[in-house]
Amino acid sequence: MTWPDAPQPPLRLAVDREALIANWRALDRLSGKARAGAAVKADGYGVGARLVGESLAGAGCRDFFVAYSSEAAELSGLIEPCNISVLHGPQSAEDAAYIASAGLRPVINSLRQAKFWYDAGGGACDLMVDTGINRLGLAMADLGDELVGGLDVVTLMSHLASADEDSPLNAVQLARWQQACAQVSSRDTSLANSAGIMLGEAYHGTLTRPGLSLYGGVPRGELAPHIRRVVQPQAMLMQVRDVAAGESIGYNATFTASQPMRAGVVAIGYADGYLRAWSGKGMMKSGTVHLPVVGRVSMDMTVIDLAAAPQLQEGDWVDMAYDLPFAAEVSGLSQYELLTSLGRRFGR
Ligand SMILES: *Cc1c(COP(=O)(O)O)cnc(C)c1O
Repeated sequence: MTWPDAPQPPLRLAVDREALIANWRALDRLSGKARAGAAVKADGYGVGARLVGESLAGAGCRDFFVAYSSEAAELSGLIEPCNISVLHGPQSAEDAAYIASAGLRPVINSLRQAKFWYDAGGGACDLMVDTGINRLGLAMADLGDELVGGLDVVTLMSHLASADEDSPLNAVQLARWQQACAQVSSRDTSLANSAGIMLGEAYHGTLTRPGLSLYGGVPRGELAPHIRRVVQPQAMLMQVRDVAAGESIGYNATFTASQPMRAGVVAIGYADGYLRAWSGKGMMKSGTVHLPVVGRVSMDMTVIDLAAAPQLQEGDWVDMAYDLPFAAEVSGLSQYELLTSLGRRFGR
């Protein structure tokens, strides 16, 4: 017997596609002579890679970046595989063979990965050189290796460690990247992520790689006037209850009602990415009215104080106050974490 399709749980991530497209256009414009691509790894930062790919390809974005080859399948039929760069490169001989047969473009990060790529037949690839983040990427000293000399490099890239700060490391990385560009010939050159775009023309090369700011994140203040909010988590009030003075709410009774109150049980919890960091300090909204979270956030539900919105009833929906720069400040989480933790139960 096959089960009928179940209804969606009562929580959804409203995605403003127009704002997403407007953000890409703004980042493309801010990239000057370079063109902007789009980082859509981790399921488009939790927003939905397919939805993002479809919207941005429609707007003219050509270059897409995923972390693993398995993430590229989300874009099938939307984006030419040769325009999808696999940032983490081939993880094994088998992965290199998969990338080659799918026609994807691997980013070669090490001599080991270069070897995987040759053994799989080689072809067009990107090359990531490490200029100071000391994470993934070929060491500058290995640029002269014969394995590297034989690569057919489409985009020579590096990644900034501190683009969201005015750190002297930015200029150090820029100088090393320019040196790498002089050493390796490639069609495109790419250094800047979202924040890096605001460091100026020298950081642009011919292709920029924004991620966070496409989705409404503001890693540098200068971006604020250009970036619109894209995601709005929403959830339903599953139950409304009257709580007497002196009664506590939620696990470990961290909140006690000082007077009789009306409390609402909202269908979102830490398993959905509404993390315990919001316990006792998160806000939800009904229109413009703010409704504070009371007590601990549970796995699948969160309780709010309904005093400011007495008209709300069971079955009504509320918005999370989840504007990324603001939410990061209140919660102590990064804007990246706030986005990518949004869970799989959301309807998108
Ligand atoms: C994630 C990632 C990006 C995008 O960075 P944002 O800070 O989200 O704009 C760019 N390049 C690489 C290599 C990445 O891993």
